[in-house]
Amino acid sequence: MDLEAEQIFWAVLIFSWIVYLWESYLSSRQRSVYLKHTKVPSALEGVLDQETFEKARLYQIDKSNFGFWSGLYSQIESTIILLLGGLPYLWAKSGQICARYGLGPDYEITQSVVFTVLAMLFSTVTSLPWSVYSTFVIEERHGFNKQTPAFYVKDQIKKFIVMMFIMLPITATLIFIIKAGGEYFFIYAWLFTFVVSLVLITIYADYIAPLFDKFTPLPEGELRTQIENLAASIDFPLKKLFVVEGSKRSSHSNAYFYGFFKNKRIVLFDTLLEDYTPVNKDEDKKEDAADNQQETAVLAVLGHELGHWYLSHTLKNLIISQVNTFLCFLVFGLLINKAVLYQAFGFTSQPTLIGLLIIFQFIFAPYNELLSFCMTVLSRRFEFQADTFAKSMHFAEKLKSALIKLNRDNLGFPLTDWLYSAWHYSHPPLLERLKALEKTE
Ligand SMILES: [Zn+2]
Repeated sequence: MDLEAEQIFWAVLIFSWIVYLWESYLSSRQRSVYLKHTKVPSALEGVLDQETFEKARLYQIDKSNFGFWSGLYSQIESTIILLLGGLPYLWAKSGQICARYGLGPDYEITQSVVFTVLAMLFSTVTSLPWSVYSTFVIEERHGFNKQTPAFYVKDQIKKFIVMMFIMLPITATLIFIIKAGGEYFFIYAWLFTFVVSLVLITIYADYIAPLFDKFTPLPEGELRTQIENLAASIDFPLKKLFVVEGSKRSSHSNAYFYGFFKNKRIVLFDTLLEDYTPVNKDEDKKEDAADNQQETAVLAVLGHELGHWYLSHTLKNLIISQVNTFLCFLVFGLLINKAVLYQAFGFTSQPTLIGLLIIFQFIFAPYNELLSFCMTVLSRRFEFQADTFAKSMHFAEKLKSALIKLNRDNLGFPLTDWLYSAWHYSHPPLLERLKALEKTE
């Protein structure tokens, strides 16, 4: 390895440790918030009871400890892989497998596909114990896990197969485009990823998500009518309204919308509609107060979600991510033929897939960190704006109680370290959102 290659290698490794230590420092700040506050602070009296507060505290401490160990493990794992030359080793192994079937080094795309499968298998296997522990010990202990071991195993296998079906053709085509695209390949490569992401968003709802969860249309009734009226009042092109059986997985609750142009769908988690039963809803027509309250909470949450649409947040995010991808491919085009980058990671040849991996993951790492921080800041702005939108639809009070309820149901801890939340939180902390909703113009 020449000097420059060696310097690049160590710079990448040291940077990954700087990021790791920074993240660990932030997490330790947040952990000390959990440890320090054992009583509901006065600002939250009447919002949260002591029992829920303590439950949330213990849940977050457990998660934080888990995060410490799993983070340490994955940092050490990736360091060992880099130091021992795991990437060139896996690449050579993939070549040997291809050679066994009579495919020589000219079959770079085939070798890349084999490499991707092996790498995915490796990462699935090494992350499995962590995922099992998180689901069946931590989530279980705090009453969130609803998966049986059988469901979990089937789910993981399905996930792996679906992932392969999507990833492998995309990887193969992308490599082909980069190799055959000539001088302006970065334009075609970007166009390709752009089209792929549009296609994936389009087919995800109808063909991919239903493989994992059951989606049923929300039946006719008061709630449905109210949601349709709400959508109509701001010209939201609501095509379909689904309830997803999130409760089979976990009892964390949520709602979201998706789709292009005039083809929007709203999905509600059944956990959000606590007493929701798809079939018998009409039989127990007890329109009691609790039921009504729940309906308006759902509406308030949707008022917020529709705010994201009304204010074009999804479109803005899409544009930013496309501009970013284009710039990345442009810079990638300038770097792809630099032999020193491949040498730095122990490669004597210059396979396109390895170039993608090294440049996008390692060389762009500082830029990626910065970008993700900026996107988190932007996301928090969007959340405040969507809250303000819901407020303009007269949902301020309902949204406040819905946010408190969601926070309670998901055992979110209401107190945050400012630096930790500034770096990590895509949504502003609960108290800030409540305060902003209370503000009168
Ligand atoms: Zn939001």
